Amino acid sequence: MSYEPAPDLLKNRIVLVTGAGDGIGRTAALTFARHRATVILLGRTVEKLEQVYDDIVAANGPEPGIVPMDLEKAGQAEINELVQALIENYGRLDGLLHNASILGERVPFDHYSIEQWQRVMQVNCTAVFMLTRLLMPLLRESDDARVLFTSSSVGETPRAYWGAYAVSKYAMEGFAKLMADELENTSTIRVNILNPGGTRTAMRAKAYPAEDPNTLKTPDALMPLYLYLMGPDSREEHGRTFRADQIGDSLLSEE
Ligand code: NDP
Repeated sequence: MSYEPAPDLLKNRIVLVTGAGDGIGRTAALTFARHRATVILLGRTVEKLEQVYDDIVAANGPEPGIVPMDLEKAGQAEINELVQALIENYGRLDGLLHNASILGERVPFDHYSIEQWQRVMQVNCTAVFMLTRLLMPLLRESDDARVLFTSSSVGETPRAYWGAYAVSKYAMEGFAKLMADELENTSTIRVNILNPGGTRTAMRAKAYPAEDPNTLKTPDALMPLYLYLMGPDSREEHGRTFRADQIGDSLLSEE
């Protein structure tokens, strides 16, 4: 049996996607909008966000919002500005997809650049905490919010030469589990971790330069899983890790 998301699954939902300009985040933003969500597109390259905006509007999706933000540099003041704008424009947040991340270096840890380590930890972990922490009042205004953390198999079990990327995802998973535990009986916000597995994007090509991209699934194949976890059908899922490469075909599209 495969998951069949309703065409208007995300109607009236306000969903923020980080790293919405490219790769999996871009496809998720377009897909959520196709299922009638109002998507807030956060990313660091404005032209890419504008292209996604145009594509959503051209497909008659609900008008998205654009938030140019570099998660490596954004501080509390900048994120609070975003929170204020969301309060004024929407009054709540029904979904938060933590998707943006950077790969960093693939070298032994005793060769790892300390500056690079700090950048990767900032984007992949600390900024994820900061955004979640400051967006909580808006998430609490929703009666059925979802927070999705994007991890990786090296986040579950760090492996040699994956450096700060593995450690940042491991720490981010720790935060996601702590948050899920704290909210389990006190809130309707549902928190889950999603591991997309090998997917045809620029990041994957950088991590595995010798791999033939045609052997990988595209971001589109992941979208039933993303829709399930972002929409009302996943009301009972909380504190779980969903590994796209292990869940079989039920939540993945056939290509
Ligand atoms: P991409 O590199 O293709 O896209 C990442 C997106 O994040 C880009 O839009 C990028 O912006 C944005 N981003 C990066 N740094 C920042 C920053 N400092 N501030 C704001 N936005 C930023 O990655 P994928 O689509 O492959 O990955 C998406 C998620 O899935 C990541 O969390 C990744 O770790 C995870 N993942 C991916 C796998 C894969 O095989 N692809 C496997 C396992 C996990 P810009 O376009 O401007 O560079």
